[in-house]
Amino acid sequence: MASKYYLGIDMGGTHTAVALVKDLKIKDKAEFATEIAKGLENYIQRLKAEALSLLSRNGLKIADIKAAGMGVPGSVNLETGMVEYANNLGFNNVPFRDMVSEALGIPVTLDNDANLAALGEFALSKSKARSFMMITLGTGIGACLIINGEIYRGINFAEGEIGHMTVKYDGISCNCGRKGCFEAYASANALVKMACDAMKAHPESLLWKNPKIDGVAVFDAARKGDRIMTGVLDEYSFLLSEGILNVINLLQPEELVIGGGISACADLFLPGVIERVKEKVYSRDSKKNTLIRAAKFGNDCGIIGAARACEG
Ligand SMILES: [Zn+2]
Repeated sequence: MASKYYLGIDMGGTHTAVALVKDLKIKDKAEFATEIAKGLENYIQRLKAEALSLLSRNGLKIADIKAAGMGVPGSVNLETGMVEYANNLGFNNVPFRDMVSEALGIPVTLDNDANLAALGEFALSKSKARSFMMITLGTGIGACLIINGEIYRGINFAEGEIGHMTVKYDGISCNCGRKGCFEAYASANALVKMACDAMKAHPESLLWKNPKIDGVAVFDAARKGDRIMTGVLDEYSFLLSEGILNVINLLQPEELVIGGGISACADLFLPGVIERVKEKVYSRDSKKNTLIRAAKFGNDCGIIGAARACEG
């Protein structure tokens, strides 16, 4: 009997998740640090080792897996399988699909990570929206627009890079080569940087008590009533809303979903975004407006979307 197991791989700028997926459900999952600075070959070998160990603890072999779907934070040419550009990985024209496929010994479907997250969330939430947008907040900011159930594709598959629209003229330098990019202000990494700066200026911040400063620590401190961190989250909410306003004014999607790891704590920053968008969106006087919500399936939607993409 043909195997119905797939591997769903979500490669982020910071972490990579690899999961065993069957019938759009995650059976088991492993995570590891992406650490692309160690080299591409090194990354692929670590990915292979994680995948094999995941299979082995589930009593499976690579021959039991039909295919792997993988999301990467960059532009992927679907015809060639090349990652043509990924600013947060330092990739230029890397034949990544074939490299991963050769290492794993199974067919690989490669796509942009935000595209796959959108595909997963759209399917899992059974959305009926005719225009559905997903914005992922992570090391950078990704986005995908699904129109009538199909991903909108640009001429070279590099559509939806809203992380690189300017929100502040001559602002913070971005590693894409421009200044003032949205992701330099509103990615999860930007939030952590803002929190670190605020912490340094405020010895009383609860963040000092946390040995590891990451998004989780920032939300944790805010939940414990740290006014410095609630202030940071309010500022973050403002910065995020400015980019989202640009996107809604341009595209007016029916549904706009915020994904990425920090979307699990969206209750601490999304209400501020929704309020600001309601006040400032160009169509504020219209009866109907874009529904903004957090992803219901968190980071898992990237993995499910990846597995779904290779189901064809
Ligand atoms: Zn940029």
